[in-house]
Amino acid sequence: MKKKIRFYQSINTKIVFVIVLLLVFALQLIGANFTTQIERQLVANFQEDRQVQMSFLESAILPLLELEANNTEDNEVDPVQEINSLLADFSGSGITDLQVVNDDLVVVGTSDSTQQNIIGQLSDDVDLRQALFTESTVPRQVIDPVTNNRRWKVVEPVFSDADDGQFLGAILMESNIESVYAQISQITWIFLQSSAVAIILSLVLANMVSRALTKPIKEMQIQTRQIADGDYSGTLKVYGEDELGQLAGLINDLSDDVAEAQESIDAERRRLNSVLTHMTDGVVATDRRGKIIIINDMAQTMLERTDEEAIGENLLSVLNVEEEITLRTILEKQDDVLVNASEGGVATLLRASFSLIQRESGFISGIVCVLHDVTEQERIDEERKQFVSNVSHELRTSLTSMRSYIEALADGAWEDPELAPRFLEVTQNETDRMIRMIQDLLHLSRIDSGKSSLELEIVDITEMLDHVLNRFDMLIHSAEYETRNYRIHKELLREAIFVEVDPDRMIQVLDNIMNNAIKYSPDGGTITGRMQKTDDAVIISISDEGMGIPKADLNKIFTRFYRVDRARSRAMGGSGLGLAISKEVVEQHGGRIWAESKEGKGTTFYLSLPYVPFEEEDEWV
Ligand code: ADP
Repeated sequence: MKKKIRFYQSINTKIVFVIVLLLVFALQLIGANFTTQIERQLVANFQEDRQVQMSFLESAILPLLELEANNTEDNEVDPVQEINSLLADFSGSGITDLQVVNDDLVVVGTSDSTQQNIIGQLSDDVDLRQALFTESTVPRQVIDPVTNNRRWKVVEPVFSDADDGQFLGAILMESNIESVYAQISQITWIFLQSSAVAIILSLVLANMVSRALTKPIKEMQIQTRQIADGDYSGTLKVYGEDELGQLAGLINDLSDDVAEAQESIDAERRRLNSVLTHMTDGVVATDRRGKIIIINDMAQTMLERTDEEAIGENLLSVLNVEEEITLRTILEKQDDVLVNASEGGVATLLRASFSLIQRESGFISGIVCVLHDVTEQERIDEERKQFVSNVSHELRTSLTSMRSYIEALADGAWEDPELAPRFLEVTQNETDRMIRMIQDLLHLSRIDSGKSSLELEIVDITEMLDHVLNRFDMLIHSAEYETRNYRIHKELLREAIFVEVDPDRMIQVLDNIMNNAIKYSPDGGTITGRMQKTDDAVIISISDEGMGIPKADLNKIFTRFYRVDRARSRAMGGSGLGLAISKEVVEQHGGRIWAESKEGKGTTFYLSLPYVPFEEEDEWV
């Protein structure tokens, strides 16, 4: 994420700031030291100069003061006048005031021409008094009360050269020291100006240096941001072998590594996506709260939800199994759950298997649910169960009936000349029925396992049907059917229709339909065999005028063991497998079998077989 760096946070500012701060600190230190030293030196020089002038003046004034002290009237020279003219000569060049007092502190001379009136008066100057008492030089800086200027004031006591060293008076010298300070100020000002220039220059230089330093860092920043955004195309320029250069090199290597890793992750994701998309099982992945995050195409179809509808939904509510199972049970033991996903009349049963997505630490980050369509499997399972139950039932019924007759025979009925043959006949019939049923079952099992192959021949189907009908015509005229009034009617084509069939099997199918027509027409009636031909099929139909089949049962009669009236079928020795076998055989031939019926009126069975019309020229090809 891009975060704006504030001005004061940037490394650039920090470097510039530190450099300038250091410079200012150094300049401060140098400046303070430099100005104090200069000031001290200049002031010392000034004082020394004054001291030299003072010594010179002292040597000139000493004889005059001696003269004044002796006070001899006959002097040719007036010491006071001499002193004054000397002082007048001396003043100027920085010296603002000169005064000479005698040993009584009476002013005997002044350089100030406007103050000649103080001559002859007692001086009230404190420094003069101090010099008199301490008998030593009194140097002091004073402030001029009028101009506020600083002055350098020296009071020098004058002693006689004679051995007694008598105190003769004192000289007071005041000079303007302000010029020295002005000089110091000027020097300080020059120093400040150069400092300012130095700071500005260093600011520019520091900025340049820090920019040079931070440029590679900025580039690295941009590059790493690009890497974070998934753009690995850029390469950083390596400016040198220093730490920054090495870092840039490392970032380039890192970029390559990340690009490679990303590529392999992408490839992996694509592979996973394609596996998920093309899986025949449905796959749904959730987060740890059971909210769907991935759902593949198959799962969408199975659950009849689009991607958008399912994502974010709770897995259990989408599977509609909230009442049977909770997230907790899934987490504890990943049992399979059967999900009824029937929608719009289409029965669909799914088996949902759960597994956990676990990290190495054991933390469960989600659930994967694999959905397997078990509708067909369950149907087959159900059929198998039904089949076993049907077979057992059929066998048990026959065996129970046989057992009761055999028991009766064993109990003495065998001696009864009337009962014994009847009972034996029943057991024989039951045995026959069981044998027939087992044969039928074996036949079906052979067809199921694909072991029953057809022995195809080109057969004239018109002739075959005619033959079967004739055989049954003879049968209905036998003694057994004498009481009932059956009639067989034929509406066959007048031409030979050659079809490729297994004749034995096809006759078995026709026999079965004819047998049923007789069996289920208890009151007799006409049985009509018809034939019809289309461009690509020959259709045989056999109609009876029997009891008919209820509409609801019409498409069930071809399933194994299905009988409309179980008791009647049994009484007739049927097993409920005849039509099932017929259907399998016809389908083996690539044909179709179906029935139409009106309850109480009669039934028609249709049998269509593929047929390629025989053409003259084909014969010789
Ligand atoms: P079954 O051995 O019971 O005859 P099939 O498979 O041949 O077994 O027939 C299945 C069932 O279809 C019969 O039990 C009967 O209820 C019904 N069925 C078959 N043919 C006819 C028909 N021509 N008229 C009425 N019902 C029939």
